[in-house]
Amino acid sequence: MFKSGYVAIIGAPNVGKSTLLNRLLGQKISITAPKPQTTRNRILGILTSSDCQIIFMDTPGIHKAQDEFNRGLVETALSALGEADAVLFMIEPDGAHGATNEFILRNILRIRTPVILVINKVDTLGNKGDLLPLMQDYGNRFDFKAIIPVSALNGEQTADILAEVVGLMPEGPQYYPEDNITDQPERFFVGELIRERIFHLVHQEIPYAVAVVIDQFSENPEKNLIEISATINVERESQKAIIIGKGGQMLKEIGKQARAEIETFLGWHIYLGLFVRVQKNWRKDPRAMLEFGYR
Ligand code: GDP
Ligand code: MG
Repeated sequence: MFKSGYVAIIGAPNVGKSTLLNRLLGQKISITAPKPQTTRNRILGILTSSDCQIIFMDTPGIHKAQDEFNRGLVETALSALGEADAVLFMIEPDGAHGATNEFILRNILRIRTPVILVINKVDTLGNKGDLLPLMQDYGNRFDFKAIIPVSALNGEQTADILAEVVGLMPEGPQYYPEDNITDQPERFFVGELIRERIFHLVHQEIPYAVAVVIDQFSENPEKNLIEISATINVERESQKAIIIGKGGQMLKEIGKQARAEIETFLGWHIYLGLFVRVQKNWRKDPRAMLEFGYR
């Protein structure tokens, strides 16, 4: 009997959803950063064994969304709940994001899908015994299939999640070929890796105003490399100036770091050309959002 199903990973921003997905797959397919709200799309990660295929959905963090763009991100995350065969609800060990977690609890009470509570970042704890009150509190409020403390960062106990999830998967077909690890094309990840570098290198609110579009992605067998050109869209001239930096220094550094990441990801030498363009207030412009790959 072959088993298969969808698993939604939900939680507040920054709890480590994308880090966990990368850890479970053994490969980086979702970008991570020490800032909230880096994940924008729903990203599928596919894990296939001889008798089971699990399709994980990484989602944008759930939070109290002020503007329409961020409300769209929260909707993307919540809609994943309804489509899933199991849910991984991730929290932090210090009781952070209380209001958000209440909101998620209310939402999972309305669905029939089995939920596993994942308490992440336990590597930050001095004493694991400190987790017991938190585990008890959550255990009293919802009938979780399991409560598993893990460290997505160093892999501690993440195998336990897989064991639990496999047990929850229904009988079903193999939806994707076994060597697929995601449903997204390579060029999508190339854009994401550039966006991730901007999150790491550029401060303030600017990374949130960035959308990366891949304009060219072509193999050049003669030179044995892949030629990529990408446009970094921002919302204002002032943001463009910061992304480019004094004498072009910032853009050069973004390009240098992104190139190294993309070469690791693709396993190819690449040529990377980066351009910066102002697309005024694109996060309020439905047509521009669609063009940039957001619903
Ligand atoms: P997301 O917003 O939920 O997708 O969170 P990310 O996966 O982007 O992680 C947010 C931050 O938390 C990053 O700086 C990660 O390196 C860090 N992080 C994730 N998991 C762990 C963990 O198990 N332990 C520690 N110490 N940090 C973690
Ligand atoms: Mg994320």
